[in-house]
Amino acid sequence: MSTYNGKCHCGNVEWSAKLEKDQQGHILCHCDTCKYLSGGTSTLNQIIPKSALSITKGGNNLGKYTYYGESGKAVNCYYCPNCTCHVYHHQMVMGDDTIILRTGLLAEGINGTLKPAAEIFGKARLPWQKEVAQTFETLPPS
Ligand SMILES: [Zn+2]
Ligand SMILES: [Zn+2]
Repeated sequence: MSTYNGKCHCGNVEWSAKLEKDQQGHILCHCDTCKYLSGGTSTLNQIIPKSALSITKGGNNLGKYTYYGESGKAVNCYYCPNCTCHVYHHQMVMGDDTIILRTGLLAEGINGTLKPAAEIFGKARLPWQKEVAQTFETLPPS
């Protein structure tokens, strides 16, 4: 297990996350929601226990955006209200204790040390974007 530190663009929010060995990589999500929320081709994520994330600065002021996923259950997105960087998402369908961390905002995400581990919703990957890791059409079989 290693500790990774992240911060938002404006610096009002900072956090640290403990990642197990098998969590030390990005899961690229190509779904359309991720395209909208990031303004990019995909998002960089990892599924971690809620207890593995600690918001060390600005945690009381996070903004929250809620949308409803394909399951019909809420997805709560927590972001810096000043610069709008998304810190993590909580998908209700995954239970109370599991969150989706935006690994792209960790220092190792910004500098490229963390590598792609898998790609999900590959069916929505933009046709000009190269495959960089094992790709699942939607989600991996559970
Ligand atoms: Zn910010
Ligand atoms: Zn997505």
